[in-house]
Amino acid sequence: MSESSLVLDEVASRDLGKIIEVSTLRWSEQPNLLWVLVRTSTGAVGLGETYYVPSAVEGVIHDLAVPLLLDRPAGAIRQAWNTLFSCANFFGYAGAEMRAISAIDIALWDAFGRATGLPLYQLLGGACRDDIAVYNTCVNAGPHRDWDLALEDPAELAGQLHALGYLGMKVWPWDRFAPQIEARGSTGPAGWTAMGPSGSYLAPRDLATGLAMLESARGAVGDGLELIVEGHSRWDLNMAIRIARAVEPLDVLWMEDICQPDSPEDLSRLVRETKVPQAVSERLISRFPFRDVLARQAAHVVLVDVAWTGGLSEARRIAELAETYHLPFTPHDCTGPVTALANLHLARAMPNCLAVEVVRGFLEGFYRDVLDFSFDVRAGRLALPPGPGLGASLLPDFAERTGVTVRTSS
Ligand SMILES: [Mg+2]
Repeated sequence: MSESSLVLDEVASRDLGKIIEVSTLRWSEQPNLLWVLVRTSTGAVGLGETYYVPSAVEGVIHDLAVPLLLDRPAGAIRQAWNTLFSCANFFGYAGAEMRAISAIDIALWDAFGRATGLPLYQLLGGACRDDIAVYNTCVNAGPHRDWDLALEDPAELAGQLHALGYLGMKVWPWDRFAPQIEARGSTGPAGWTAMGPSGSYLAPRDLATGLAMLESARGAVGDGLELIVEGHSRWDLNMAIRIARAVEPLDVLWMEDICQPDSPEDLSRLVRETKVPQAVSERLISRFPFRDVLARQAAHVVLVDVAWTGGLSEARRIAELAETYHLPFTPHDCTGPVTALANLHLARAMPNCLAVEVVRGFLEGFYRDVLDFSFDVRAGRLALPPGPGLGASLLPDFAERTGVTVRTSS
């Protein structure tokens, strides 16, 4: 019997108590984020998180999830997931319902870890590696103006990331040429810049302008830094194929969401008509659409968002599904610090994790204003904090901070 099995057998005999209280927390300075605290009768408190339209997710948690969770066993994580999913699925599950399930699932795993004194990667099966390579998604955040730099001097940005040891840089060279929509304000969900319909025509000169960003970065660092192309689903299938064929000579690590990810048949055609590896997609919710994509050989890399797709429970199932097809997975994070932590536990526990996404401006910026742990990229890699569960908590004063609102059900 393995050491891991012995640990889990010993854990299984413990009384993990019942769920007695669920709180949601929102912070005006990060209006897209929602945190969840699940308190158990044994005193453990688990932390979860999700992102996007938090007022809707908050409603799902308190109106739908809490009545199904209170007084239930805190350690019955799979049963909780199945119960919540079966109810959410009755009305069409993707959206706020799955983000609510995701946040609760992460919190239940964290509470499990805290109650047992074990880190989540151990409870997920144990460590396959000590730390994990990261790549930078180039947004303006915290001390870094990475998107401005990508537009103005991509060679300089690539040089910076290469010097720090990052595995790669992710940019979206063609979003600016796609149809744009206007929203009042810039920080709330409606102002999210990735929103917008898919375009049906990308002019050759605009294709070349976007390509120049990648070529400049490649020229600066050669093959010392991987290039990753984000599409935010801003193009229809014909233009996706046009872009992919233009990118082929640059040998990018992958291209993601260059068209909508909702059709396995269309993704399969994209895969057949270009040599560029295709990553699919943090926008797929639950294992079921991933099953359809992988069965049609329509992806090379599986992108998963722990805080959207169904929590650590579902992300692990998706990672294992990818492994079944001899494919890597990579967790998405352009959102929040708890998601980043959960990603690291999953990455440590799963053998087929390729790399973890980070936004260095978040790691060095507001993530430090939320958690009692500072993410520190060293030689392009991230390690976990020691300690049980996620290994970090909300800062002690977080709930009392100006601009933070708390809603509790018990
Ligand atoms: Mg993406």
